[in-house]
Amino acid sequence: MKYYSTKNKAYHVDLKAAVLKSLPPDNGLYMPEQINRLSDDFFKNLTQLSFQESSFQVAHNLMGDAVPSKDLQGIIDRAINFSAPLHQMTDDIYTQELWHGPSLAFKDFGARFMAELMSYLVKDDNEKLSILVATSGDTGGAVAAGFYGVEGIDVTILYPKGKVSPLQELQLTTWGGNIKALEIDGTFDDCQALVKAAFLDQEINAKRNLSSANSINIARLIPQSFYYFEAMKQLKNQDKPVVFSVPSGNFGNLTAGLLAKRMGLPVARFLAATNLNNIVPHYLATNDYAPRPSLQTISNAMDVGRPSNFQRMVDLYDDNWDRITRDIEGFYYSDEDTRFAVKYLQKAYDYIADPHGAIGFLALQQYLQDHPGHQGIFLETAHPAKFLPVMEPVLGEIPVPAALSDLRAKTSEAEAMSTEFAAFKAWLV
Ligand SMILES: *Cc1c(COP(=O)(O)O)cnc(C)c1O
Repeated sequence: MKYYSTKNKAYHVDLKAAVLKSLPPDNGLYMPEQINRLSDDFFKNLTQLSFQESSFQVAHNLMGDAVPSKDLQGIIDRAINFSAPLHQMTDDIYTQELWHGPSLAFKDFGARFMAELMSYLVKDDNEKLSILVATSGDTGGAVAAGFYGVEGIDVTILYPKGKVSPLQELQLTTWGGNIKALEIDGTFDDCQALVKAAFLDQEINAKRNLSSANSINIARLIPQSFYYFEAMKQLKNQDKPVVFSVPSGNFGNLTAGLLAKRMGLPVARFLAATNLNNIVPHYLATNDYAPRPSLQTISNAMDVGRPSNFQRMVDLYDDNWDRITRDIEGFYYSDEDTRFAVKYLQKAYDYIADPHGAIGFLALQQYLQDHPGHQGIFLETAHPAKFLPVMEPVLGEIPVPAALSDLRAKTSEAEAMSTEFAAFKAWLV
């Protein structure tokens, strides 16, 4: 399989280049040249397949023979070693819990698969690979957990001081070994700008073999399509049309769902659920794409004003707005709505959802009101205990899993740094 740039379909590279370079030089995004329908047999047997077995078929379909089957199966077995269960609320409403991985967010799927795949791709290279990643919270924790102890790869995480939750911060700073955390005295955008500048700096690139673990890497997108199949397989009623409600920021999660549909998964509609950073819902309603600086909300993993995967979404539909809006409908909600939903889910269904999942619920509920005869799944993208400062004022104390509370006893280590590029550069070289 080759991967082309969304800015130039004639430019294509193999899997190793797409994964290790992350971005094509023209600033487009990599996409697989073919997205074939999976066979009728695959769908007929889906309910009999394990999560790892179906994931292998999906990955193989998007990667071709770039990785031999035996090695690919090994990568999947090691990376996808946790479940993605459905939890049913009503006849027609389910949530899929995507937080059963080590960092308790869906980003574990992408990060773990990418870590296994990168480590496989560089195993015969002599030079050490240095991963840089800017995080607003969940990405850094998932990437650290995925790459910790991986031979031949070191990871530098940049996070904005005081802008990630205390438990999220501990998920970045308590590793040691090949994982280093830099606490940047600035915003997430500043962190991102430092990483970008490092990639463009010739001196750094001459000294270090840099790669990126951000969400636009194709190696993070591919495994995110796995759990859509896993969700479908668990539905009690296999005949009612199904919609997926996807809490979205950079739209990697939703784009992976679109890939699943293109591979034949019978999804009636995707709901693009956002907070007040409603760039994509606005586009879907008006055909006007207007990125703007992001607003801060209580669902901060979705505070994105220029969604990076938008290019891929429109590419999948040849930029045809009529076709896109047939498959995706947009919804957006305020912080007040979000708090209401968190409270409502607990009251009505005795279910504690995080602020991002709660937005997914609101969109699904609204859609089902207008479309009787459908059923839907909202994705629960992180464990609620990752967001205690938001959750506790709404629900009081909530249970914290040991994977998080145990971090409080560990030594936290981060190097403080300004937003000046010179300091970051000196640190890197
Ligand atoms: C990253 C994240 C999102 C947004 O996912 P995208 O793929 O960027 O749209 C939603 N919820 C949580 C909890 C996240 O960490």
